[in-house]
Amino acid sequence: MLTERVLDAATDLILRAGYGATSLGAVAAAERKVLRRELLEKLSSVENPDDCDGADNTTVGDVQSLVTEIAEVALSDVLLRLTQRAPVDVPVALIAAHPDDETIGAGASLHLFRRLLLVHVTDGAPRRLQHTAATGFVSAVSYAEARRRELKTALDIGGADPELAILGAPDQEASLQLADLTAALACLLRQHDTTCVITHPYEGGHPDHDAAAFVTHRAAARAHEPEILEMTSYHAEPDGGVATACFLPNGPFATVIALSEAEQARKRAMLKCFVSQHLSLDQFGTGREPFRPAPRYDFTAPPHSGMLHYERGDQRMTGARWRELAARALA
Ligand SMILES: [Zn+2]
Repeated sequence: MLTERVLDAATDLILRAGYGATSLGAVAAAERKVLRRELLEKLSSVENPDDCDGADNTTVGDVQSLVTEIAEVALSDVLLRLTQRAPVDVPVALIAAHPDDETIGAGASLHLFRRLLLVHVTDGAPRRLQHTAATGFVSAVSYAEARRRELKTALDIGGADPELAILGAPDQEASLQLADLTAALACLLRQHDTTCVITHPYEGGHPDHDAAAFVTHRAAARAHEPEILEMTSYHAEPDGGVATACFLPNGPFATVIALSEAEQARKRAMLKCFVSQHLSLDQFGTGREPFRPAPRYDFTAPPHSGMLHYERGDQRMTGARWRELAARALA
C-alpha cells in the first residue's frame, strides 16, 4: 500500500532532518515507532472524508507537503546548526529557572552559541531557612553565591562564555512574581536583540521551571517575538517515576542531538561542578540533548492529567495555585 511505503520514507526523511544523516543509526526503534504512528494520525486527517469505501486515498503530494511542513519545523536555523554541531552566530538567550538547568538541558551545546545571553530567573536559593541549613549554608545569600560559583566553573569546563543575567526571584517563588519577571525579561530580550530563546517546557516538573516558561513566552510576545525553542528538564511519569531528557507528547517533533563520547564526558564534568545539587543531578543522563520549537501553551490549564511532579514532593506549590497565579498575571 502507498501509505506503508510513504510512511517509511517520511519517517526516514524527518529523522534525517532532525538527527543529521550520519547519526540516524542511533535513533531508537521506539522513537521511530512513535514518529511513524504520529505521521499515520496526521495522514489520516488529510484523507478524503467523503470516501467511505476504505480505499487508501493518501497521495504522494499529501505526504510531501506533510514532510515539508514537519521538516521545516525541525530545520529552523538554530536547530539545524545544533544538529550539525556548528557555531550559532545569531543572538540567542537561554532562560533557565536555576543555575544548573542550562547544563541539564543544553550543557554540551552551550559552547556553540557565540552570542549567548544566559538568564536565570531565580538565584537558586530557597528562603526557607531549614532548606538552606540542610545544604550546609548559613544563609540564602551564601547559598546563592555558591551556586553562582558552581555555574561559572561549569561554563568554563563547557567552553561557554555567555553574558550572564539574573532576574533574582527566590528559588521556589518565581511564580509569585510572574508579571514583574516578564517585564524585566522583555527588557533584556530587546537589549540583546535576541532572535531565538531557549527555555523550559511547561510540564509540571518544578514550579520555577513552569514560571520560566510562562515568563519567556510572555516576554517574547512583548519584545519582538523571537523564535522560542525548548530544552528538556523533567516531569512526572504516570507510574510515579520521573521522565528526563524527553518532552511531554504535547508539541512538535523534537530534534534529538545524540552526544558523542567526548561531549558526554564534558557534560558529566560540567554536572559535577554543581556540588550543592549532586543528589538531584544524579538522575540525569548525558547521552542526548533534545530540543524542539515551543508549542503554544494554555498556562491556565494543567500541562498533563494526573498529579504533577512538584505536587508529589514536599514543595508548597500546587498545580491549582500555580495556574491561579498564571491567570492573574495574564489578566
Ligand atoms: Zn531547576
